[in-house]
Amino acid sequence: MKTDVIIVGGGIAGLVCARQLSQAGYTVVIFEASPHFGGRIATDEKSHTERGARVLHDWPTHPLHSFLVEAGLQFTQVDYERTEIVDTHGNPLSDLEQDSVNELALEFAGALQETAEEQPQDLSVMDVADHVLSQAEELTSTERQVIDWLLSCRELETGLNLHQASYQALSAPDDLLNNDHLETQDVIPVGGMQPVLSHLARGLDIRLSTPIATVHWNTEKPSVITSSGMQHSAHAVVITVPVGALQNNTVEFSPCLPAPYQDAIESLKMGAEVRVTLDYPDVQWHEKPHFFGLLSTDKPAFPQLINHWPTEHLPRLTAVAAGRHAELFMKMTDDDLIAHAQKAMQTISQSPLPTPAGAVVTRWGQPPYINGSISAVPVGVDPMVRARLAAPLERLIFAGEAATMHHPGTLEGAVYSGIAAATYLERLL
Ligand SMILES: Cc1cc2nc3c(=O)[nH]c(=O)nc-3n(C[C@H](O)[C@H](O)[C@H](O)COP(=O)(O)OP(=O)(O)OC[C@H]3O[C@@H](n4cnc5c(N)ncnc54)[C@H](O)[C@@H]3O)c2cc1C
Repeated sequence: MKTDVIIVGGGIAGLVCARQLSQAGYTVVIFEASPHFGGRIATDEKSHTERGARVLHDWPTHPLHSFLVEAGLQFTQVDYERTEIVDTHGNPLSDLEQDSVNELALEFAGALQETAEEQPQDLSVMDVADHVLSQAEELTSTERQVIDWLLSCRELETGLNLHQASYQALSAPDDLLNNDHLETQDVIPVGGMQPVLSHLARGLDIRLSTPIATVHWNTEKPSVITSSGMQHSAHAVVITVPVGALQNNTVEFSPCLPAPYQDAIESLKMGAEVRVTLDYPDVQWHEKPHFFGLLSTDKPAFPQLINHWPTEHLPRLTAVAAGRHAELFMKMTDDDLIAHAQKAMQTISQSPLPTPAGAVVTRWGQPPYINGSISAVPVGVDPMVRARLAAPLERLIFAGEAATMHHPGTLEGAVYSGIAAATYLERLL
């Protein structure tokens, strides 16, 4: 059968792009390196644990909203307001204390913004924070812990070590579609991300465990060569391979990519994130909070615990670390990470936690095919590199969470990029 479009990478960007093109009557083949499709939407099959994305942001303006609602999926709202901050002794902050944390967070964010605006050039988030802290009146030890926790939460946004993360990029609005005036929520699909992927993948030609090693692109009939040496050609090729994998040279481009594309790939940075999900026989912590924020005397190792009870009705907690701590955790054994996570979880429990019935450890930062958590703009790099990467090279198009200016680094951004690539090809072919 003749192929119109080859898509390299079966994550959400690839699936969305393939779906739109197939519905428009094109013949599309997706090549996926791993034995599963979904990429960074990865559900652990045995325990139904989300190793990666779990939340659909900006509901109902999310680009998958109509499709998933029509497919009959149900959704549960995530409530970040329901974050319980816990002090170093394991006690939840009182309402009054929580109010002062909110006030301090607002004040700190304002001071960061003001300081960054005064600087002639982009600084790292940590440099801006250090500058603010050097000017601040002496902080109490709790205030200092709160600031450290707030900074760790910023690391969760990009996965980047704050010494590397660009303040300018992190504070820029990530919604160029101008939807900010609309009231939106974050939701979790009932049954997790697997039904989302299954609906998107239905009827598509996906070749699993088929890594693409080479792309010949500068021709009317571009082609790809799999790692086992099979060649396939089409009228266009869409690359949705994460920049972390492209930086690792898992795919060779022949001829070499033009400098703006090469520069864009090299200048973005992949974050690191480690997640440890532990299942307990029952809930031995406060049931209602959707998240727990853990204050610590040192820089918090796991700043956040996700409570799966209110949203999924599971006696399950996930400890999350990104940036500096994830870089350290990356080298630890599973047993050590589980012990570390259990220690963090113990601080929110009213009684000694039993040995978990199940554990899933995920390190987003290891080669070869994803090689990081999400793409982020490091200090000194122009955030517009994402737009440069997304600009079509005639019959070669880059898509995926890195190649978009709309909510980059998210599932939503990956979907927008897949739609943009498909729409361009519908006009071209
Ligand atoms: C821990 C974590 C939590 C997250 N949480 C959220 C969240 O709650 N909400 C949200 O909106 N976003 C979240 N994200 C971000 C979101 O998961 C990603 O932005 C999105 O899934 C990226 O989709 P993609 O299609 O661009 O890339 P991917 O999903 O990475 O897909 C790319 C695919 O390409 C394949 N590939 C690589 N090399 C080759 C090759 N040579 N040949 C063939 N195939 C190849 C890979 O195996 C992969 O399947 C999270 C990310 C992480 C890591």
